Amino acid sequence: MIQIDALPAFNDNYIWLLQEPSSKRCAVVDPGDAAPVLAWLEAHPGWQLGDILITHHHFDHVGGVEQLKSATGARVAGPAAEKIPARDLDLHDNDEIDVLGLRFKVMAVPGHTLGHIAYYHAPQNLLFCGDTLFAGGCGRLFEGTPQQMHRSLSRLAALPASTQVYCTHEYTLSNLRFAHAVEPDNVRLNERLAEVTRWRDEGRISLPSNIELELATNPFLRTGEASVVAAAKGREGKLSDEPSAVFACLRAWKDNF
Ligand code: ZN
Ligand code: FE
Repeated sequence: MIQIDALPAFNDNYIWLLQEPSSKRCAVVDPGDAAPVLAWLEAHPGWQLGDILITHHHFDHVGGVEQLKSATGARVAGPAAEKIPARDLDLHDNDEIDVLGLRFKVMAVPGHTLGHIAYYHAPQNLLFCGDTLFAGGCGRLFEGTPQQMHRSLSRLAALPASTQVYCTHEYTLSNLRFAHAVEPDNVRLNERLAEVTRWRDEGRISLPSNIELELATNPFLRTGEASVVAAAKGREGKLSDEPSAVFACLRAWKDNF
């Protein structure tokens, strides 16, 4: 059984560390900084870093790759469509990759960047989605269109409800504050906002999330809900009910929130 821990990096990044205790092999997702991973390896003698999985090309996700690869010999896998340092394995939509004995399916999820990919392991319902789906929110549109991002998020939203969502940033609280502005009467959302506020006061991580919770509280996955459509129309009177139009309105609203 795989164990998954978060190694904090920079201000609000998490490097996900997957561990397979019987073989003492491990893998990391999006090591923007090598130092936290090297410190973990130093504190855990006998463990070997075998794989580095990358979701997209931004520096806070790839900054530690070259140093980690040269220190450990780990294999680097990342999106074929982006420039990834020291990449060994080019991944495309629907490719499969074996990591620590687990088979992950690659999902192309353009929007935040054009080549962004996510990694999904079906039997244990694990999703590593980088800066695409966040707890309570979604990534900014640096390269893609709202339509692309909406489609990518819809793909992730269609995964089983129990899927554990491992995103890269601790943005949950600010995302939920925005969600509350969109849907002030969403009871589940208000409970979550209170819970995450408490967790963050205690210095606790708010991740992983799961798809069921996101469907209930993340406005970017709720663009077909009457309450979310009404809030978007409150911002843009002539907005169509089309979910991707509602999504575009929410994303622009959040950008200035
Ligand atoms: Zn990014
Ligand atoms: Fe990032």
